[in-house]
Amino acid sequence: MRFKKSSFKIIFLCCLLTIVGCNSSANKANSINDLYAITNFYVATDLHYISHSLHDNREAFQAFIKSGDSKMLNYSEELLDAWMQQVINARPKAVILSGDLTNNGEKVSHEELAKKLGIIKNSGIEVYVIPGNHDILNPWARSFKEEEQLKTDYISPQQFEVIYADLGYNQAVDRDQDSLSYLAKLSDNLWVLMLDTSIYDRNLDVGYPVTEGELSQSTLAWIGEQGALAKKAGTQVFAVMHHNLIDHSELSSLGFTINNNEQVIAQLKAAGINLVLSGHSHIQDIRSQDQMIDVATSAFVVYPHQFGDLHYMDSSAVLEYTTKKIDVESWGRSAKPNNVDLTKFTEYSTDFFRQNSYDKVYKSLSSQNYSDEERDKMARVMTELNLHYFAGTVNEMDKNFIYSDGIKLWNTAKPQFLKTYVLSMLKDTKENNRTSIQLSSAK
Ligand code: FE
Ligand code: MN
Repeated sequence: MRFKKSSFKIIFLCCLLTIVGCNSSANKANSINDLYAITNFYVATDLHYISHSLHDNREAFQAFIKSGDSKMLNYSEELLDAWMQQVINARPKAVILSGDLTNNGEKVSHEELAKKLGIIKNSGIEVYVIPGNHDILNPWARSFKEEEQLKTDYISPQQFEVIYADLGYNQAVDRDQDSLSYLAKLSDNLWVLMLDTSIYDRNLDVGYPVTEGELSQSTLAWIGEQGALAKKAGTQVFAVMHHNLIDHSELSSLGFTINNNEQVIAQLKAAGINLVLSGHSHIQDIRSQDQMIDVATSAFVVYPHQFGDLHYMDSSAVLEYTTKKIDVESWGRSAKPNNVDLTKFTEYSTDFFRQNSYDKVYKSLSSQNYSDEERDKMARVMTELNLHYFAGTVNEMDKNFIYSDGIKLWNTAKPQFLKTYVLSMLKDTKENNRTSIQLSSAK
């Protein structure tokens, strides 16, 4: 008994030394690796997830999709499942979702989405979410049955925090008292401010989800505090928000760009932040203004169904952003081999977007004095341009496109919104799918 006890002590001591020893050599290795350390994470936005249990894909749901903005809601679950497989295979350190997580804030969709994201989290990949304008206190929450839309439960901000507790809120290093904003650490050297820019308090009174976004004075003050903490820690910070920080269109930016954007830009800069990752506009578009960069990733649920893949290099404080497409086809071949929409998804999704876009334009031109052939030409060029505009690839289009009959017809059309829209899309010659950002730090 005595012998056993003392030998146990010796074994315990040896173990302790080994652990301490291992630890110190591991630390040394880490400090060398730190010089070359790369943090890889994904960002996706506007999933507009709707649970299959809330629709039967019949008349009411089909009509809802048709009247919408090309969201592929009928396959929202499949898109997520395909992406999850991609995420789990690629093993980024974290995934960030910047709002409009659900179609119209249905409680069932939120709960189901959180459960699925929990699978990513349980595989050892952190998940950080913030809400968008569709997610909280949304009086438009609906289920769809045959020819009817039926009211379904929405959620409160308190419920949001509970549903997504393990997907950001429990991992937060600091929380804003005035919103669902929080600070998270992606690594020792890279922090992220997840900013809740949506305004949901008025939704139930006005009867719709308020589109515009803002940050309160108290949240702005909290951002300042986080900047001071980052400066003290000598770490880099960037921000994520649903609304855009900078105008992404020469047309109307009302409701897209955050209301008090000049104030927000000034406060972010003071906090040492020069990068924002946003969504909301559903288009892929990178813009900068006053040394501030806003990377708007296109909507997950809209063609071309992509997300941002980011690599941060500690040694240079450079963050590389590239878009990647959701690989629905690989997933579809094993999970739903008999569904050609999924096994030939690129074709299906392009047709889906084209049809939606074409039908809307063709119809809107019906009241004007054009022949069917002219309307067809105008709708075709608009659709092609729109397809590239959403993908952020107008710069890759054949330059002769501007001399096509359809564009000529738009050029001579009477003043109208669609004409301005078509001509403004043509001007987008930027690179929108990749960028390299040198992160600044607090002064
Ligand atoms: Fe959205
Ligand atoms: Mn939105």
